Amino acid sequence: MRRLIVMLVICVCALSFALAENAAPAPTPAPASQLPSMMELGGMLVLVNAQNRISKAHVPEDLVQPDVQTRKKSLESNILMREEAARALERLFEAALHEKGHTLYATSGYRAYGIQQILFNAKVEEVGSKEKASRRVAAPGTSEHQLGLAMDVQSPSQLNLNPKFGQTPEGIWVGENAHRFGFIVRYKTEWRSITGVSDEPWHIRYVGVAHATALYHLNIPLETYVAYAQHLPEYVLAKGNNFLLQGLVSQMIAGNTPEALSALALADGMGQEAAMRAASAPFLPEGTSYDQAVWYAYPTPRPTSAPRVDEDEETSLFQAEGG
Ligand SMILES: [Zn+2]
Repeated sequence: MRRLIVMLVICVCALSFALAENAAPAPTPAPASQLPSMMELGGMLVLVNAQNRISKAHVPEDLVQPDVQTRKKSLESNILMREEAARALERLFEAALHEKGHTLYATSGYRAYGIQQILFNAKVEEVGSKEKASRRVAAPGTSEHQLGLAMDVQSPSQLNLNPKFGQTPEGIWVGENAHRFGFIVRYKTEWRSITGVSDEPWHIRYVGVAHATALYHLNIPLETYVAYAQHLPEYVLAKGNNFLLQGLVSQMIAGNTPEALSALALADGMGQEAAMRAASAPFLPEGTSYDQAVWYAYPTPRPTSAPRVDEDEETSLFQAEGG
């Protein structure tokens, strides 16, 4: 009995410590008068949930089939994402395999409004009410899958979409590395009161490397991030590095107006790069330069010299083509 009480006390202490650590942030700021375009439908930072619905008619224009493994070959042609997200997913799956030998399967990507309706109705039937069903399956118009920016991921050891995926070596790796490729684990148990969705370690959402990495280190849901980040200038959202984004948002969460904000807001044209460089300085970790930070978030291929063409070879190539 005594042992039980001691254990209970330890648990309660751990809980209150956890609560203190996740102390309520400053009141969420009022919405911006105009949302940045990145947060509008079609943008990579668009927020979709029960309060922010997508219209029935919305279909992304650039859906492609990512070149990744699926659990069943027959599923392959049904798994689609927007092109930028699909390319990032390929890099994520490749890294899982090469860095740790983890095989990942893509299970469900873009879902049309009508498909979501069918899934939702089936869940309502199963659990008895729309309210209960919406905790497990997003109601039509409230699913990120309709954006073409979300993917459900499985592993050979966890072939169901089950919270246990989060404890598998593959799930742990995804949780710790998805941001390097631009994805966030969108729903966690501790965010349920904000997201309205239970723990879903298998559901990853593309937002781009800079935002995903900032979100990963801030350890906040997209809802909270968007509420603050919408007050940043559009170009900072589009081109800012993760240290700058994380630094500015964390200052705002703490209830402070970032000092750099007015200089960033005033800068235009060529001045924007210089303003971001100056604003990033206090947030860069030791040993990381501004250019390294930018390159991590927005890698560009290294320039290569023009291909050397041997004249004889060129002639023979032309002849071959002509004949
Ligand atoms: Zn999902």
